[in-house]
Amino acid sequence: MASSSGSKARIDGVTASPLDNRIEPILATDDEIREAVAGAHLSSFLPALLPALAHALGDDSVLPEWVRPNGASIRDESAGLTPGQAREIRRIAIEALIDVRDGNRFFDDEATKSNISSERLRRLMSFAIGETIDAAYVPLMREELSVTGNDLRAPTWHTDDVAPGRSFPVAIIGAGMSGLLAGHRLRQAGVDFLIFEKNDDVGGTWLENTYPGCRVDVSNHVYSYSFAQRNDWPNYFSSQPELLDYFRTCADEFGVREHIRFGHEVSAMTWSDDDQRWTLKVNAPNSESTHVCSAVISAVGQLNRVNMPTIAGMDDFAGPSFHSAQWDHNIDLDDKDVVVIGAGASASQFVPHVAERTAHLSVLQRTPNWFVPVPTYHEPVADGLQWLFRHLPGYAQWYRFWLFWRSSEGLLPACAVDDGWEDLSMATGVDNAALRELLEQWLRLCYADRPDLHDLVRPMYPPAAKRIVLDNGSWSTTLKRDDVTLDASPIIRIETNTVVTADAEGSETHHPADVIIYATGFQASKFLTPMKVVGTGGRDLHDIWDGDARAYLGVVHPGFPNFFLCYGPNTNIVVNGSIIYFSECEVHYALGVIEMLLRTNAASANCRQEVHDAYNERIDVGNLRMAWGVSTVNSWYKAESGRVAQNWPFSLLEYWEQTRTPNPADYHFA
Ligand code: NAP
Repeated sequence: MASSSGSKARIDGVTASPLDNRIEPILATDDEIREAVAGAHLSSFLPALLPALAHALGDDSVLPEWVRPNGASIRDESAGLTPGQAREIRRIAIEALIDVRDGNRFFDDEATKSNISSERLRRLMSFAIGETIDAAYVPLMREELSVTGNDLRAPTWHTDDVAPGRSFPVAIIGAGMSGLLAGHRLRQAGVDFLIFEKNDDVGGTWLENTYPGCRVDVSNHVYSYSFAQRNDWPNYFSSQPELLDYFRTCADEFGVREHIRFGHEVSAMTWSDDDQRWTLKVNAPNSESTHVCSAVISAVGQLNRVNMPTIAGMDDFAGPSFHSAQWDHNIDLDDKDVVVIGAGASASQFVPHVAERTAHLSVLQRTPNWFVPVPTYHEPVADGLQWLFRHLPGYAQWYRFWLFWRSSEGLLPACAVDDGWEDLSMATGVDNAALRELLEQWLRLCYADRPDLHDLVRPMYPPAAKRIVLDNGSWSTTLKRDDVTLDASPIIRIETNTVVTADAEGSETHHPADVIIYATGFQASKFLTPMKVVGTGGRDLHDIWDGDARAYLGVVHPGFPNFFLCYGPNTNIVVNGSIIYFSECEVHYALGVIEMLLRTNAASANCRQEVHDAYNERIDVGNLRMAWGVSTVNSWYKAESGRVAQNWPFSLLEYWEQTRTPNPADYHFA
């Protein structure tokens, strides 16, 4: 981030954000400053305010102990603050900002802010979250926050230094969030690379999912690269066009766009033991070619290949139908009878929009989701907050830290299975039961006037066994409309213009359908499908996995040297952390292995089987200690075998620690 003077720092890393995050000088009147601070109307913005101020001023006297939030209740609406504390935080902030405007106090320059000691950083973080943060988090947070404005995850080595003259081309598959990141890091390290992208533009999931109402369900201050944060997000949760724009900007600013071959899909990759290289089969619209490289980074995503159900009579349907991730904008839904099959994350976003247009909408739900109330879900960032983000250096990053703690790490215990907790059908432990009660309260509030609907949408499984969906009330409001029907009975067939369900007694309901929209999710457990991946000794990865994918750290697999996965097996997070965090760790790890290869002049690094196996045993035990592992409810978190092949069961800190520096002992080198 630029300082108030507009200069960019280059202290202990590479200057971070390529985006324009200028901090503007304070020219506002007293009243305007008061109004701006009052604009931080939600308590959740206050805990980070004084730590940001202290950091920017280089003065911890703005942190009186008595306004420190109560850590035990930071997830409450109050964010752990009493009204008196909230008032005092605002008063201190207003006074300090006026002082800065008047030249009585000064924001530290970037150099001073960068040099913040770990002890002080820990103190400020502990203040923000109202509890003493484990010292182990401080280096992670220093990177993740990028409060200093420096990109501390940038490679600290360059090919020209570690392997001058060596040819080591890398292929990246996919130009979505992870592929762009991998390209950026390789470019910083001076490694030769090409990105193959099947689409005609960057963005991956944010390019493909264009359904009405599509938006991210993780706060944007967290759902962005640590080194390319924005202090001017227009919404708390961006819509798809904003995110696509962000990734397009990143592609340009990172300088990776010219390395991308658009419209090129990799259909197969084969390792040669003799050459110690990969050969990729690449399909373009009018050509098929091969590409030989030393290493491959797969960044193809996990929620990418659509899951189409098999329902009797599907092919007899006379009208148009499409999957939500392949939205057909040419199909007119106005005044039509529309049937939506599926009631998950995507449906919850587009159904309220579609219902505005249709003559009648039927939502066919197989399993209800838990919904968590998030009043700001569709809201623009309040003007006052926008002002603070633009005028208080580092506030956006401190807010990111606070969100990170509250949503990700802080929620993990609420997903755990308690020792001795016997009935796992509705909750898995004390904290999970408390979460359940919170979500039940929201359900009761939403459906107070419709007990019939309440019974249909009430999940009969523990929260976090499936992904919890964010809600500002629009889902229940839509389901209650006279022209909307929610049906939770199984679908038994599709006819030319009807979808038919049948209840337990066999009584049929015919849902009129001019159009069917399949909101039936993705083939999440079929990692790398439909690509063929052949490793050492001609072994096929899909044969080895047999529908139950595993990898070491989610990134590497024995027998597939120099092949790295982003968003691979067991790297999904459940409780609202940002998947970008994981991608940054994965790419950092992959770059670490590539660095080892270059430094040692080795041709290949092949993960040891025993390392991979021991790791996966631990992952499986970990997942069986979590709600998503013990619940029998349907979910895309599990492979067909029933094993959780998607989720990471431990803390974010642990994943960061494990991926920080590759251990040479984990590999056979050739
Ligand atoms: P999803 O949440 O898995 O929902 C799929 C829905 O289709 C579920 O209701 C599922 O029922 C139903 N379904 C699947 N097969 C069916 C069949 N044969 N018959 C009837 N119903 C069937 O999928 P999604 O909505 O595409 O979301 C997937 C994930 O993508 C999310 O969990 C999230 O991680 C990500 N996502 C994120 C956002 C966001 O950031 N806002 C938005 C969309 C998606 P069951 O529950 O019974 O399986």
